[in-house]
Amino acid sequence: MNTTTLLVVMPILLLACLVLWRLGGKKASVSALHSPGGGPEGSNILEAVSDGVVILDTKGTISMINPAAGRLVGWEPKDAIGIDHALVFKLCDQKGNPYPPADDPFSQLLKDGKPHRDNNASVIAKGSEKRVMLSMTVSPLFRHGELSGAVGILRDVSEERAAERQRAEFISTASHEMRTPVAAIEGYLALALNEKVSKIDAKARGYLDKAHESTQHLGSLFQDLLNSAKAEDGRLINHPEVVEMGQFLGKLSEDLRFVAQKKNLIVEFVVGTSGANINASLEKGSIRVVQPLYNVYADPERLREVITNLFDNAVKYTEHGKISIGLTGDNNVVQIYVRDTGKGIPAVDIPHLFQKFYRVDNSDTRTIGGTGLGLFISRKIIELYNGRIWVESKPGEGSTFFINLPRLSRNQTSEYSGDSGNLVRTNNPTT
Ligand code: ADP
Repeated sequence: MNTTTLLVVMPILLLACLVLWRLGGKKASVSALHSPGGGPEGSNILEAVSDGVVILDTKGTISMINPAAGRLVGWEPKDAIGIDHALVFKLCDQKGNPYPPADDPFSQLLKDGKPHRDNNASVIAKGSEKRVMLSMTVSPLFRHGELSGAVGILRDVSEERAAERQRAEFISTASHEMRTPVAAIEGYLALALNEKVSKIDAKARGYLDKAHESTQHLGSLFQDLLNSAKAEDGRLINHPEVVEMGQFLGKLSEDLRFVAQKKNLIVEFVVGTSGANINASLEKGSIRVVQPLYNVYADPERLREVITNLFDNAVKYTEHGKISIGLTGDNNVVQIYVRDTGKGIPAVDIPHLFQKFYRVDNSDTRTIGGTGLGLFISRKIIELYNGRIWVESKPGEGSTFFINLPRLSRNQTSEYSGDSGNLVRTNNPTT
C-alpha cells in the first residue's frame, strides 16, 4: 500500500481505537480483543487489520495491543498488556540506532501531547536481531480535555523499502555505466569543435555545437540521477568538518558571479541582518568586514553543491535584475538564502518543489533544460545536516530559497575542529 492508502486507512484505525477506548475503557478493550468475534465491532476490526495498533496509558504502559502489533514485536498480545512500551517496542531511529529511553515517538507524545509521525523508524522483534522497517503514527488520546494516553499505528514497510532500494540501485548502476560513453562522446565532440584539431565548415559546426550541448545535458542528467539515488540510500560522500559560512559563501559567490555575468545579472553577497552589503565584485581587501562567525558542521563539497544548484536555478529562471546570496542567523541557527528577481514560483507548485523530478509546468521550464532533481538532492543534503530548506516566492517578483543549519557554539567549534585557532577570529561566534 502506498502513502495515500496509508492516509486513508489510518483515520479508520484511529476511529476503531477510539470506539474501543470509549466502550468502557481499558479493561473492556483488552477483554474484547481477547474474545474474537464476541466483542464490540471495533475489536474485530483491530483483530483483522494487518497494521499494528497499540494503546498506551499516560505512563507509557501498554493497555491494548492487536495481533499484528504483537507479531511485529514478537510478543503475544496478552503478555504485552501492562508492560512498559519501551520493553516491548525496541524502536530504532532513521539511522538504525535504538531510540534513547524516553525519546521514541511514544515517549515524545506523552511528553508534549502532540501527534508524531516517523516514516523511517524500525523495530527489533523479541529474540531477533533483524530490524523491521516501519512507518508509524502516534496520536494522543484525550478524555475530558486531559491527555489520557496514546494510540500508535505501525505498518511494516520492509517490502516497499526493499523495492525502493532495488530501484535506486538500478538507477545508480545504469546512470554510472551510461556516464562513461557520454563522457567519451562529449570529449570527441569537443575535439571536433576545436579549430586547432579539426577543420569543419560552419554548418557542421552548428550541428556539432547542438550535439555538444545535448551531450552535456545528458551527462548532467546522469550525474543528477546518480546523486539522487545516492542521496536516497545514504551513499552520498560525506566528510563533515567545521565550515565558517561567511568565508565559504564569500569565496563561492566570487566563483559563481561569472555564471550570472553571462546574463548581465548583478550578484551580491549580503551578510547579517543589519544589511551590511558586500558586493561580490569589490576587490578583496578594499573593505574591512567585521562579521560574526557562522560555523556549521557539514561537508563543504556538499554545501557547495546545494548553493551552486540554488544559484544556477536563480540564474536560469531570472531574466533581469539581481541575485543575492545572503547569510544571517541567531545563536542557534545559521541561515543562508539565495534570492532572485526572476519569474517566481506559483503557490500551488511550492509544496511539491523539493520532490523528485518535479518541475513547474510553464513555458520557461519547457524551454529551459533541467531534470527536476536538483532541489530534491539539495533537500536530502541539507537534511543530512539536520537542516531545513524551503522557498518563499511571489510570482512576477522573484523567489528566495532559504537554508537553516544548526549553528555551532564556540565549544562545539573547538570540539569538532580539534583546532580552534584556525577558525575563531576576533569575533564572538554566538553574536
Ligand atoms: P531543474 O533541473 O528543473 O531546475 P530543480 O529541482 O533544481 O530542477 O528545480 C525544480 C523546479 O523548480 C524547476 O524546474 C523550476 O520550475 C523551479 N525553480 C527552481 N528554482 C527556481 C527559481 N529560482 N525561480 C523559479 N523557479 C524555480
